[in-house]
Amino acid sequence: MEIACLDLEGVLIPEIWIAFAEKTGIDALKRTTRDEPDYDVLMQYRLDLLRENGLGLHEIQDVIATLEPLDGAVDFVNWLRERFQVIILSDTFYEFANPLMKPLGYPTLLCHKLECDDSGSVIDYHLRQSNPKRQSIVALKSLYYRTIAAGDSYNDTTMLAEADAGILFHAPQNVIDEFPQFPAVHTYDDLKREFIRASDRDLKI
Ligand SMILES: [Mg+2]
Repeated sequence: MEIACLDLEGVLIPEIWIAFAEKTGIDALKRTTRDEPDYDVLMQYRLDLLRENGLGLHEIQDVIATLEPLDGAVDFVNWLRERFQVIILSDTFYEFANPLMKPLGYPTLLCHKLECDDSGSVIDYHLRQSNPKRQSIVALKSLYYRTIAAGDSYNDTTMLAEADAGILFHAPQNVIDEFPQFPAVHTYDDLKREFIRASDRDLKI
């Protein structure tokens, strides 16, 4: 059996922190895993900015409430789920992602948790485990599943490398250049073709 593992932000939904940066006008919040490969460094930087600007979970959730999946994402996920078991492996937080899971049909989501106080200030964050995307692939392989993974960013590359097949989707040129071993595509139709190519079954578009 085969499992399809997808990154969330940049692949199926917009980058939440970038949307929040645009809404608040705090340009420094536009830094993402595309710019900073070390997720811990990036998150500490984000929490510091939230604290300095007096912003918390409620303000972020207000912005998330205005977001929708990327154009074509819902159809793509439906297509994929007809052909594969699908798991979303994300470095976002359940507190952010839950409202956006409804239009995607609530696929299985493995991600992190935020710790907030009663006023909604974000005090800390709790990673599910270290190197969570890669470890999820390792775990699925221990169950004798074949894995095909797609993501757009630095934090996906260990997952793509560990999977039986890895695909870059919507990746910026610097990531594509640094990881030429992965096919890189930019449309959902091309991504479907890559999943079919990577599958060991005779699937059709
Ligand atoms: Mg991403």
